[in-house]
Amino acid sequence: MTPVSQVEKVNLLDFDRQGLREFFAQLGEKPYRAEQVMKWIYHHLEDNFENMTDVGKALRAKLEASCYIGPPKTMFEKGAADGTHKWLLGMDGGNAIEAVYIPEPTRGTLCVSSQVGCGLNCQFCSTATQGFNRNLATSEIIGQMWVAAKYLGNVTHQNRRITNVVMMGMGEPLLNFDNVVKAMSLMRDDLGFGLASKRVTLSTAGLVPMIDKLSESIDVSLAVSLHAANDELRTELVPLNKRYPIAELMDACQRWIARKPRTSITFEYTLMKGVNDQPEHARQLIKLMRRLPTCKVNLIPFNPFPGTRFERSEPDVIRSFQTQLLNANILTMLRRTRGDDIDAACGQLKGQVLDRTRRQAEFRKRLDEDAAHAA
Ligand code: SAH
Repeated sequence: MTPVSQVEKVNLLDFDRQGLREFFAQLGEKPYRAEQVMKWIYHHLEDNFENMTDVGKALRAKLEASCYIGPPKTMFEKGAADGTHKWLLGMDGGNAIEAVYIPEPTRGTLCVSSQVGCGLNCQFCSTATQGFNRNLATSEIIGQMWVAAKYLGNVTHQNRRITNVVMMGMGEPLLNFDNVVKAMSLMRDDLGFGLASKRVTLSTAGLVPMIDKLSESIDVSLAVSLHAANDELRTELVPLNKRYPIAELMDACQRWIARKPRTSITFEYTLMKGVNDQPEHARQLIKLMRRLPTCKVNLIPFNPFPGTRFERSEPDVIRSFQTQLLNANILTMLRRTRGDDIDAACGQLKGQVLDRTRRQAEFRKRLDEDAAHAA
């Protein structure tokens, strides 16, 4: 039988700085001790109390008895030809999530997951086909960064391999608000990974009330997954649009900018052949962006996955869509597709989801029917 003390041990990766100070207070320790340990965890990527040489022996023993530093377990990891790296991290039971590192000449971006699966059912995203199991704990979110940083030899505040984090992996981060905010505060904290606010980006499918709440809770950058500039099409692609239509979403974005005048919002727009890539779609998008002159558009060529009914737009169509926006003075970037040889590109993250919805089964059934049809 496992001793009771083991069962009740807490994972220090679940605490932000404030939480860690409170935990140390409960142990009868001074707050600065919490900060000392925090540095060991996030600057030195140390998970063994024994190696924390400036922490006294008695405190180390106390910590051993009451807590642990528990990053997620790597089940599988793989590098792509272009330097992109993917980790499959095991959670409870048979659940697993993915994190992806994308190196570029002047920065290194880590794409982090917030949930096991996703409940939003965006039609062009492979995570949606797996259904949903649960929210990730703070330790499981910041733990993705801890594992990647350790693997990459990241040195906080000095030789950083991870310069940016995007909450663009599996899941809708605003539906796991508290844990995501705590994890992002560890990414930002000087005693954590020490990243500036513009280098930590939360991406949302558009949960209007939570966008307002986020703007009051923490300083990070915001990305909004738009994908269509008219309600009929957007509702088809992103069913959440039915609940929070484009006009309400744009109002929330304007409130965000009003609260944070020096920041910008990035609108993500995945280009799908014949679906949302025509000149009239660009015109609709231009009209929408007029209300938010400081904002940017990030065009993402659709990344295919087995069973999808969508296709990537042709390169010349993508180029003319971008040109149309640029000619209207909208700052428009084209996201290069990275890591697609290891299924690590946007919308290709799958992990393993013990689905609590019926979505995975329904998707499998449709795949089988399609295959039978084709035979
Ligand atoms: N739920 C959040 C974060 C995850 S999605 C959100 O919706 O923003 C990360 C980005 O990848 C989103 O912009 C999403 O729309 C995009 N994406 C999803 N599936 C894709 C696919 N198959 N090809 C290209 N981009 C995709």
